[in-house]
Amino acid sequence: MNLAELAQENLRMFGSYTNLIYEGRAYTNVECDEASSKLAHLLHQLGIGHGDRVIVTMQNRPEVLWSYTGIAKAGAVTVPVMPLLQAQEVKYIVQDSEPKAIITASLLLSKVQEAVKDFPKPPAIICVDAQGDDSLEARFKDFPATPPDVQIHDDDPCVILYTSGTTGRPKGVILTHRNLYSNAKAAALLANEFAAASTLERTGLIVLPLSHAFGFTMLQSAYLTGERSVLLPYFDPKLVFEAIEKYQVTHFTGVPAMFHALLNHPDADQYDLSSLTICISGSAPLPTTTIQAFAEKFNCPIFEGYGLSEAAPVVTAPRLNDPVKIGSVGRPLPGVEVRVVDENDQPLPPGEVGELVVRGPNITKGYHNLPDETSKVLKNGWLYTGDMARIDEDGYVFIVDRKKDVIIRGGFNIYPRDLEELLLQHPAVAEAAVIGIPSEAMGEEVMAYVVKRPKAEVTEAELIAYCQERLAKYKTPRYIKIVGHMPKNLIGKIDKKALRAQAEKEVTQA
Ligand code: AMP
Repeated sequence: MNLAELAQENLRMFGSYTNLIYEGRAYTNVECDEASSKLAHLLHQLGIGHGDRVIVTMQNRPEVLWSYTGIAKAGAVTVPVMPLLQAQEVKYIVQDSEPKAIITASLLLSKVQEAVKDFPKPPAIICVDAQGDDSLEARFKDFPATPPDVQIHDDDPCVILYTSGTTGRPKGVILTHRNLYSNAKAAALLANEFAAASTLERTGLIVLPLSHAFGFTMLQSAYLTGERSVLLPYFDPKLVFEAIEKYQVTHFTGVPAMFHALLNHPDADQYDLSSLTICISGSAPLPTTTIQAFAEKFNCPIFEGYGLSEAAPVVTAPRLNDPVKIGSVGRPLPGVEVRVVDENDQPLPPGEVGELVVRGPNITKGYHNLPDETSKVLKNGWLYTGDMARIDEDGYVFIVDRKKDVIIRGGFNIYPRDLEELLLQHPAVAEAAVIGIPSEAMGEEVMAYVVKRPKAEVTEAELIAYCQERLAKYKTPRYIKIVGHMPKNLIGKIDKKALRAQAEKEVTQA
């Protein structure tokens, strides 16, 4: 149950092999094990030890994995920070997590220096692609390639993960070794079932940011399946197609915005993607229209899972041999329990919609420095997810919507996701997001934002008429606005907070 031992566990189970391919170069698991051990010694030399925090901020590259593993081997705590954050945002995380070091790459160095310049005792900076005496090679040369002797308990913090912060300041989710290891292990068990479906060498494509819980756990779980991972620095549809074709990628894990982009890319037909056996989506609702169109175009199913940072992150996932239930995010992972509860925390029977609560070895201990916030989400050993869901008779979970996105119009609950699914079925609609906006008369009114498919012709009035024909009157959007693009957060989820702010201005002006 210890992330520090994962690299050695991987070596014991699978021997030496290529575990990572990055920008055309193959890296072995031995290289990773040795580099991470040396890094652990370097951290000790810098006075960083048990429980100390170390920020890791860089685009996806092998050194991210080495850093995560090395920090764990040193007994310290990793704080992954999205490389796209601004200096001010990084500064806030530095202030809150008080790291003793920051591991970064030259591309981000000036931003990191800017973020730490006002601190009286700024953290040490390690730049993974520095040259000469500052290069990792030079700094590592005197250290042994075996890990330092450190006592690590399964319940020690391993990572503090700052949530993307679409509401207020980002909160640092504390994840222990047990949280992360158990989740990676459970994900690996399911992945092993799926691997049997292909005869090719197991090759996963990782483009999710490794600074997000989803990417982080996918990479750790690959250690436990012994597969090779093709790592891309960032998402770009062409890079994805090229990598699938070149390395005969068998599975790809992404977020809905990525599947949407692949599906609609004009060059998709120019590549041989026949090696791809399965895709996994998580992090945001996956429209059923995307699942169907993807299967048709690429002859590959997309399976949808569900999770959140506070659950390290995977909560539910589909199993290979389970019957397909459209719209479901599968069943809880082995060892994880889920329930749906009402406003009084009472469990609801199958089929009824309430808040999803989760219990299991993957659930966070709480938020760093925020005991009040922690007690709002952790009650009697259950994590309150803030997601509305129903569970059917067979234990399949269906995410209905985020609790705070539910629109209450004239006393009736409206789930934006139902409306979004309907709008996406219109042939001219590529993306849709539905929000509630304040209304004196009704409490809230429904507003939809839509991005058109390229070359499609449709007017806002036509889309309102389309909804009127298919929806109960109280649910029909009062306003529909066609826009050029949707605001998205760093992992590609539609940013409804930004849309609400936009709507407030547009509707008052109208
Ligand atoms: P984060 O902690 O930033 O990864 O965000 C977690 C949130 O993403 C969850 O609480 C859900 O609201 C949402 N989410 C994750 N997976 C899904 C999914 N498959 N369907 C709908 N929402 C999802």
